[in-house]
Amino acid sequence: MLYLDFQKANCKNCYKCLRACPVKAIDAQGGQAKIIESRCILCGHCTVACPRNAKSVHNDSDAILRLLQKSDKVIASVAPAFVASFGLSSFEPMRTALKAIGFYDAFETSEGAAAVTAEYKKLLASGKYENFITSACPAVNRAIELYHHAALKYLAPVDSPMVAHAKILKSRYPGADIVFIGPCIAKKREAKESGVLSGALTFEELMAILAQKGVEISDTPAPAMPKKQAEKASAKASAEVAATAEQTALKAKYYPISRGIIKSFDEFPDGYEYIAVDGVNRLDQAIEDLLSVKHVFLEINACEGACVNGPCSIKRAGGSVEANVKVRNYVSSVPADVVPDYPDISKMFKPKKAGDRVPTEDEIKAVLASTGKTCEADELNCGACGYSTCREKAWAVINGYAEVEMCVPYMREKAESMGNVIIENSPNGIIVCGDDLSISEINRKAQAMIGIKSPDYIFDCFDPTAAFKAADSGKPVHVDKLKIDKTGKYVDMMIVPLEKEKALLVVLTDITEKVNYDEELSKVKRDTLAVTDTVIEKQMRVAQEIASLLGETTAETKVALLKLKATMIEEKDS
Ligand code: SF4
Ligand code: SF4
Ligand code: SF4
Repeated sequence: MLYLDFQKANCKNCYKCLRACPVKAIDAQGGQAKIIESRCILCGHCTVACPRNAKSVHNDSDAILRLLQKSDKVIASVAPAFVASFGLSSFEPMRTALKAIGFYDAFETSEGAAAVTAEYKKLLASGKYENFITSACPAVNRAIELYHHAALKYLAPVDSPMVAHAKILKSRYPGADIVFIGPCIAKKREAKESGVLSGALTFEELMAILAQKGVEISDTPAPAMPKKQAEKASAKASAEVAATAEQTALKAKYYPISRGIIKSFDEFPDGYEYIAVDGVNRLDQAIEDLLSVKHVFLEINACEGACVNGPCSIKRAGGSVEANVKVRNYVSSVPADVVPDYPDISKMFKPKKAGDRVPTEDEIKAVLASTGKTCEADELNCGACGYSTCREKAWAVINGYAEVEMCVPYMREKAESMGNVIIENSPNGIIVCGDDLSISEINRKAQAMIGIKSPDYIFDCFDPTAAFKAADSGKPVHVDKLKIDKTGKYVDMMIVPLEKEKALLVVLTDITEKVNYDEELSKVKRDTLAVTDTVIEKQMRVAQEIASLLGETTAETKVALLKLKATMIEEKDS
């Protein structure tokens, strides 16, 4: 089952999750981050880092609601971080709300935590442990099982407070279904694998169920300790009596804050330095460091600030500072619990395998070479791909978790060199300038057109009116047949504003030949017209001359014929 993943629509391929993941359990191929279940320790750190809030936690709400209908004895074990997530000062409002939605009853997981602290004390007193790592955080336990086999011998062989509490509740209510409610994603897998719990809800899921059912949780301050009880407690303290079980249980409510487990000890078994480390980024180093020291008790939590800051806690004003204050106030205001007898809560942790392949040096080198890294100096180790080093990313490529193209510097270089090739080989002149018309790029074609090798500004090249117009309007401007004075060339100019880059792209098309041809053509036309006019004029003149000659001849003929006619008439009459 996939307990955690990323929503498809929201992922924007920024690799922030991958950078945040301490164990690189994310497959970021194909523009969509996916959790690699076999590697993931469910710390939830990636979901907190994701700027798109693409987290998708396996939701158990429906299953738990069905269980509440089916089973008449579902008991909630509520993590003590509830005071911070729900802004409560006591457990009663939470218990009332849980009963209102169908739980048979609800108890605080700190009961289980008290049993865990008691077991830790026994183990520490046995003197068998060179170093000791707490086992309350399932994300840390998983990290040690998967990635730090040498430290497994230090991991306390004790159930987490959740599982210990479930066992206690089971022994108290045979046949009951136990559901854990807390701020943690890792507890979901732990609950399932324990075989003791029937499910785990996050605080976010509980909040949604309460809203759906119309149940409100309203805070009621913890009842003041009755006078007699308060006097008794103070008498106990002043008499420096040995810590009682009640005090231990009370202190176990410190578990969800940083150093909370150490604080839950009423006295510290001798021979150890008690150190707390929290935050998933410090986990690896702390565990590795432990291998070279002795007599250290290491309280370790995957979440920075411990469970009050869990990935499914409900964020409230004041953040983790206020959450810490809430827990501290709660511990000092609540009457002590009674630690019940508890059953066997021992647990054996075993080494696990993530199932990855260890690549050969040649394979790593081949992948590095495919992104232009042929020597150590080429390995930038910039982390832009989400991996800390180029070799780590090469490992992921070989295991099928990453793509060669995720190397950002390599892709940028490739794009730039491709861009340069395209610009340099363009048949057009290309100029890129800023809003102030200062030139940042100019290709050889443009240099030839304007006759300047390295102009600083557009107005060094030609009349800048059109460029100003494009910059002011944000719209492309086209200038037809612009004459470049320096070279006598004619260009068609298109100026395109690049809004995001705050720049102007000027594309020049050399039309000098066309303009010259057009001018030649019109000259030929003009000359032809002139010749035609002359020919016509001459033709007209000839025609007129012929006509006039024809006219004279006709008149003379007429006169001759008339004379002849008259002669003939005279001859007839005589
Ligand atoms: S952080 Fe990961 S899941 Fe979120 S948008 Fe970036 S790549 Fe996608
Ligand atoms: S939950 Fe933790 S281990 Fe799993 S992918 Fe996210 S950051 Fe990595
Ligand atoms: S140079 Fe590339 S492969 Fe190396 S760390 Fe940076 S982005 Fe990752």
